[in-house]
Amino acid sequence: MKFKLPDHVYLAMERLNGAGYGCFAVGGCVRDILRGVPPHDWDLCTSARPEQVKTVFRDRKTIDIGMAHGTVAVIFPAGTLEITTYRIDGGYTDSRHPDQVTFTPELREDLARRDFTVNAMAYHPNTGLVDPFGGQEDLKRGMIRCVGEPERRFGEDALRILRAVRFSSVLGFRLEERTATAVHEMCGNLSRISAERIREELTKMLLGGGIREVLELYSDVLAAVIPEIAPCIGFEQHNIHHCYDIWGHIIECVAHSAPDPVIRWTMLLHDIGKPDTFTVKEGVGHFYGHEKHSAELAQVILKRLKFDTRTAERIVTLIRSHMLLTEPKGKAVKRRLNQLGPEVFLQLLDVMRADTLGLAPAYHDRVEKIDRLESIARRVIEERQCFSLRDLAVDGNDLFALGLRGREIGDTLRRLLDDVIGGRCGNTKEELLKRLF
Ligand code: ATP
Ligand code: MG
Repeated sequence: MKFKLPDHVYLAMERLNGAGYGCFAVGGCVRDILRGVPPHDWDLCTSARPEQVKTVFRDRKTIDIGMAHGTVAVIFPAGTLEITTYRIDGGYTDSRHPDQVTFTPELREDLARRDFTVNAMAYHPNTGLVDPFGGQEDLKRGMIRCVGEPERRFGEDALRILRAVRFSSVLGFRLEERTATAVHEMCGNLSRISAERIREELTKMLLGGGIREVLELYSDVLAAVIPEIAPCIGFEQHNIHHCYDIWGHIIECVAHSAPDPVIRWTMLLHDIGKPDTFTVKEGVGHFYGHEKHSAELAQVILKRLKFDTRTAERIVTLIRSHMLLTEPKGKAVKRRLNQLGPEVFLQLLDVMRADTLGLAPAYHDRVEKIDRLESIARRVIEERQCFSLRDLAVDGNDLFALGLRGREIGDTLRRLLDDVIGGRCGNTKEELLKRLF
């Protein structure tokens, strides 16, 4: 088996080999070349100690990423390579950080500390593939399997539980039975993992092609990291629009949405406030005001997961707005474009489309209305039609020159914009100023 490696990867390997050290491509990049996907980065492992790696590459810029854990980054014009010394991880007392790491001259020992068989393979052009745990076989079968005993490996590092589910989603693989059992039994340990790491794993998971299956099979894992999800699971909606329980609806919405982080997070959380707002009238279930309550809960969740403010605000806005009705007419669309801004409104239409596809199939044709809203909005934007104060042919200075002051100016501009959007006045300075008298 021979693979084409990028030149700088060869170069780095040859350098280390020339200095008498072993060096292999390892982990995700090997997994990806074997499944025919171009790796997004290349990680190398080596028998050289971090200091020795730096000496070998003394003519290049290097960055000490984690000297204690053995990682040095070496900068090449074509990209940065992370080079990590073969290591054995010591005991874990906190389910996250190895208490100490020991460097080892043995590649096999380094592969043994890695999480899953498909991630525990190494490659060198002369040696070929090094695969002591059956990674290639599992790759063919589409299976995520822990290296060693799953209970022990998840006990050492609980993040691996979430990584297992993430890889299942991203690669579209199943979890091997014992690995799956341990995931279910041990997902309570995820409480020890930092918010940032959970957020990163969840985002990657949400973007994966296998997300529907993962959310169906591992709802307990999701509820372990976002407890607000638990009441949604199995919550019947008692409403003809819905053929799924709340969680089932959420799953359909996520699976039908564009693979974009903001949209997928929005769909995951858009109905999270439904259980608290449930009422029944004449046998029919209602969730009045759930969008507002979902937005409030989402705000708390996103803050807890340490999302940056901008992203969190955007997701919360989309959730709060997801029930807004807009008539598929130019005027109504322009009012929304003015209220939300073009970017948010177009995202909101994506959200609404996914939300519609999460309804019972009889209601899926409602996406046609959303498609119509989108084509109207795109035309308004493309033709630079007037929908905001910025587009108006008069501004505050014009009104000031006419003697208007303070709040009067803003109120008048808004009234004129409303006249233009409503078709009562053309958007020219002359017509607008004439309207004032
Ligand atoms: P991605 O495509 O997301 O980068 P990856 O497999 O490269 O996937 P990384 O998080 O970049 O994943 O980690 C690189 C390698 O390090 C993994 O392939 C795996 O061998 C090992 N690894 C990473 N995190 C862990 C962990 N928590 N426990 C054990 N091994 C790990
Ligand atoms: Mg990687």
